[in-house]
Amino acid sequence: MRPDILNPLFAEAKTLDGVGPKLAKPLGKLGLERVKDIAYHLPERFVSRRAIANLDDGAEGEQVIVALTPTEHRAPYNPGRGPYRVLARDEIGNICALTYFGRASYTAKKQLPVGEKRWVAGRLDRYGDMLQIVHPDHVEVDSAAHLARMNEPVYPLSEGLTQPKVAGLVAQSLKRLPELPEWIEPGQFEREGWPTWHDALHLAHKDAHEKARDRLAYDELLANSLALLLVRADGRRRKGQALKGDGRLRAKLALPFEMTGAQKRSISEIEGDLQQEAPMLRLLQGDVGAGKTVVALAAMLIAVEAGKQAALLAPTEILARQHYETLRKMAAPTGAEVALLTGRAKGREREGLLMGLLNGEIDILVGTHAIFQDSVTYKDLGLVVVDEQHRFGVQQRLALAGKGRRAPHTLAMTATPIPRSLTLAQYGEMDVSRLDELPPGRQAIETLVFPQARMDEMVAGVERHLATGQQAYWVCPMVREANGSFEQADIAAAEARYAALAERFGDSVVMVHGQLAPEIKDANMERFASGEARLLIATTVIEVGVDVPTATLMVIEQAERFGLAQLHQLRGRVGRGSQKSRCVLLRSDELSENGKKRLTYIKDSQDGFYLAEKDLELRGGGELLGTRQSGDAAFMIADLEQVQKLLPAAHADARLLIDRDGGLTSARGEAARVLLYLFERDWGVQLLRGG
Ligand code: ADP
Ligand code: MG
Repeated sequence: MRPDILNPLFAEAKTLDGVGPKLAKPLGKLGLERVKDIAYHLPERFVSRRAIANLDDGAEGEQVIVALTPTEHRAPYNPGRGPYRVLARDEIGNICALTYFGRASYTAKKQLPVGEKRWVAGRLDRYGDMLQIVHPDHVEVDSAAHLARMNEPVYPLSEGLTQPKVAGLVAQSLKRLPELPEWIEPGQFEREGWPTWHDALHLAHKDAHEKARDRLAYDELLANSLALLLVRADGRRRKGQALKGDGRLRAKLALPFEMTGAQKRSISEIEGDLQQEAPMLRLLQGDVGAGKTVVALAAMLIAVEAGKQAALLAPTEILARQHYETLRKMAAPTGAEVALLTGRAKGREREGLLMGLLNGEIDILVGTHAIFQDSVTYKDLGLVVVDEQHRFGVQQRLALAGKGRRAPHTLAMTATPIPRSLTLAQYGEMDVSRLDELPPGRQAIETLVFPQARMDEMVAGVERHLATGQQAYWVCPMVREANGSFEQADIAAAEARYAALAERFGDSVVMVHGQLAPEIKDANMERFASGEARLLIATTVIEVGVDVPTATLMVIEQAERFGLAQLHQLRGRVGRGSQKSRCVLLRSDELSENGKKRLTYIKDSQDGFYLAEKDLELRGGGELLGTRQSGDAAFMIADLEQVQKLLPAAHADARLLIDRDGGLTSARGEAARVLLYLFERDWGVQLLRGG
């Protein structure tokens, strides 16, 4: 049970003044559902602005505050297409456009009546030969209010929220913070000179207070390490069963290829684990195409040779089906019985499956989470394989682990190469096998860097490519500023590119992005997958789940702004068929040092592990797009640099605490329980009760 002291933090956001149904949606989009979420919604950065007397005084790209008087409102020619602009003049007659995308135009209409002077705060930019401010951060009537804007937090926003609104909610939620017991080890707390939890949250909203930020990040890392160690300790207490295969089924596998060294090594590591009584907890890492499936099959056959059953859990119905087809064919010569169970199986069919599982006729079960519903009972489950590990919570893994008469062994598979220093944070103390060698004969994807400025030549190149009958991807960057402004701006950029390319290529072009209705997105994807559409324009949403072997060209705009891991994932969408594939990275004229390095690394390497290490090395500086969204964010508060800096200490501390006080009953242990609930790692606490 959650300690009462945390109740004010877990109260719903709607208990704050001013939060009604209208705000609930944009808040929900940011995951801000409870008071605690809002208190932890930390500023992305702080802006120091300069008040300028007129626009001549401001530099391009500078954050300014300036008095402007609107002279004219210009609605887009075609509603919903293009931005809404308000033209405004400064004291000496310079004109500036205040530009709004999407529904933000309603705000503009209200806040900027023609002829009335306003204080406008925002980033001064240029649009063609006109000055502009896109989505001003503040528009105020009161001339004194702008003075308060000199060191101002900038919060991540979603459409429907404004900076002042969020700041107001944060202030309210900070008033409700309780005093919590200190869970950080006293010596370390002293040494680091960290503020208390309560003070740290207040400070982190006021300015870029490094100690406060670090403390909050440390809390999260400590909670995570504690929970993972509790799971691990629980696993060790549970008895598993040693599985010794005699090789008779594996010998019958008639594979059309020789296993790579990495595959053989991984299989023997797994075989070693299975022979132990302690349940295996192993992660198999390998890029897309590295050949994880056959390793999983070998592991499952060992279980079957030992007289047990194995189950493979896939994240989606489609993937479950794919796995089932592949495994059934590969396993056919061995005589092992493979079955598929998804949520779709009903009536007789389902009954038959359940019976086969119970009486042991089925050796290998493939399926979605339906395979660990309560009604599914195995005769003797010895091994569970989990594909695409990161999509499953630890909780689910535990539910599955409870299925066997004794704890089954677990093999998790992931296609996301993670730097060695981060596997600990994401996967706890799992043992790791790496498929760091691709099967022979894979086509290298030719990767080129090309100046974005020569767009015309690029488009002509795409035209020639399409004329050969092949298909192509075109990836648009996210143009949004790192200041929490609207997704709308990204979409607008993608829409503009789409409009331009559709003019050239007609209706063989389709587009997908995050704001299309799912059925339209699916229909567009389908048209592309079927070959009816030849060119797919996308924001980074194509990162997941697209497999079109005849798409052999990918163009990535402003490639230098993507992280290496993200570029690698994107590029992995081509090179899937037998034809030679190409990836063109369009780069801006001016590149940062890191931007240049990133392009060089990605051009020269196709090794996901290598690129993941380099990615980590080159992080920081805030110049990357969407790092939070790209799926590497295992943590809510701690960023990658903090993970590297603080995780070793947090992990060591967690281990020491658990060694000394495994039941978390001392005063500090009690405080650690509060921490686990605060970060919702309470599945760790729940294990304590049993043990
Ligand atoms: P992953 O799941 O790691 O993305 P798969 O297991 O689906 O990769 O394998 C990709 C393809 O490579 C499959 O067609 C598989 O049959 C083939 N393959 C696997 N191992 C080898 C190998 N050692 N040599 C040649 N082809 C292989
Ligand atoms: Mg796979």
